[in-house]
Amino acid sequence: MLEKINMYIDGKSVVSQSEQWLDVTNPANQEVLYQVPMATHNEVELAVSSAKTAFETWKDVPVPVRARMVLQYQHLLKKHHDEIAEILAEETGKTFEDAKGDVWRGIEVAEHAAGVASMMMGEYVENVANGIDTYSVIQPLGVCVGITPFNFPAMIPLWMFPLAVVCGNTFVLKPSEQDPKTPNRLAELFYEAGFPRDVLQVIHGGKDQVNQLLNHEDVQAISFVGSVGVGEHIYKTGTDNLKRVQAFTGAKNHLVVMPDANKNQVINGIVGAACGAAGQRCMGISVCVMVGDAKDWQTDLKAAMEKLKPNYWKNEDSAYGPLINAQAKTRVEGLITQGVADGATLLLDGRDYKVEGYENGNFVGPTLFTDVTVDMSIYHNEIFGPVLCLMYADTLEEAIKLINDNPYGNGTSIFTNSGAAARKFQHEIKVGQVGINIPIPVPLPFFSFTGWRKSFYGDQHAYGKQAVKFYTETKTVTSRWFESDIPDGGAPNLSINLR
Ligand code: NAD
Repeated sequence: MLEKINMYIDGKSVVSQSEQWLDVTNPANQEVLYQVPMATHNEVELAVSSAKTAFETWKDVPVPVRARMVLQYQHLLKKHHDEIAEILAEETGKTFEDAKGDVWRGIEVAEHAAGVASMMMGEYVENVANGIDTYSVIQPLGVCVGITPFNFPAMIPLWMFPLAVVCGNTFVLKPSEQDPKTPNRLAELFYEAGFPRDVLQVIHGGKDQVNQLLNHEDVQAISFVGSVGVGEHIYKTGTDNLKRVQAFTGAKNHLVVMPDANKNQVINGIVGAACGAAGQRCMGISVCVMVGDAKDWQTDLKAAMEKLKPNYWKNEDSAYGPLINAQAKTRVEGLITQGVADGATLLLDGRDYKVEGYENGNFVGPTLFTDVTVDMSIYHNEIFGPVLCLMYADTLEEAIKLINDNPYGNGTSIFTNSGAAARKFQHEIKVGQVGINIPIPVPLPFFSFTGWRKSFYGDQHAYGKQAVKFYTETKTVTSRWFESDIPDGGAPNLSINLR
């Protein structure tokens, strides 16, 4: 009998009454690991109404008490770090090192959330008029929702609910249906840390469950991370329904190589950034722009990529794992075929890649294209596989223009030894996260994760101070305390001026 993934609703661990269950498969061999439910209408309804009721008491729990709970949560996440990473590796196919990184980057956000009191401080101006003071207080919103993608099943839920909850909100998480066991384990540890069980509800499902949440009148705010088409739908529908929405979407990240850079550092950086996690990272590099003589390094780059051997995560020599599912493999291989048909030169072909013992796995070998042009589908689509497109520019200005003309703006990077080139790049590039000799510049949580343009819809970004703004309202209070009463019959003050 196959294991059925449970949900956490109204303070209980429940087995869904749904008649619709999906198989979750091991991407290395298609073995069915367990089944995930598509929550029923009533189950989604109960999760939201329970979160709404829980908010009434949770919002009044003192901030330091909430902060202490999240500190305990951070402790438990650290204690169970490897165990969570094993669940994660099995359902995503990530290497164990990469799975541990996924968990760790989430733990850092929980750690950051423990400092919430200083991020929720208001402002105070004494004597804005005679005897009158004005101050602001920061208060939570109510029920917040998180909809997360498959590619970081620990880190991305942890971007959201620890901060939302520590600010005094309650939370309904709808994780990816493709790797549901990792977020379930995160929830169990959350309850173990002492949080009331109805403060975080976890429901499973897909499009229908998301749409129910988007249209629910008791949902105040929605955080989404996923593909661009879905993100645009969520942003439009959520804001049409007058909700606060942040949507982190797709990417096409370029790395610029200047000829004065350190060659081996460059090659090392590009190979990891293009093929790590099988290229299924929103901050991975999919286009490398070689400026001037840096073009000559492509032979060394090809040799370095060729050495990467993907495998099942339990194989310690595995460079990266399979793609998440068979459709993703078919899609990525289809884009490679289309790239050849469009006239790009395929230097390294990862199609039909077979791993011994895992012949049915969704593996794609490292793939390298040159002679790529902006009109090709491999350039304008997010491939989300271990596929790197090499392009050339004569000057840094040309490289900057290419990147700025691309609609996405999640991450970019430059490798150079020139401070002037780096400064120009950082200043002129229209991308939200910039690396200088760092291939994947994901900021730590005291900053925010700041995608731009088609990679992000909304105003306030993930984690850092911006997340606290996203998950709270500001209330501004103007107050006066009378030292004595005015005599009977005094004239009423009809002016709006404060004096
Ligand atoms: P996805 O858009 O298919 O799914 C994301 C979530 O949306 C899932 O929970 C899914 O159940 C739900 N969903 C799917 N289709 C839906 C629909 N039609 N209506 C409503 N909800 C729907 O994304 P994915 O394949 O899981 O993740 C990969 C994508 O996520 C890539 O495009 C990647 O760039 C992006 N991503 C972006 C960031 C970022 O920070 N910008 C981070 C990680 C991943």
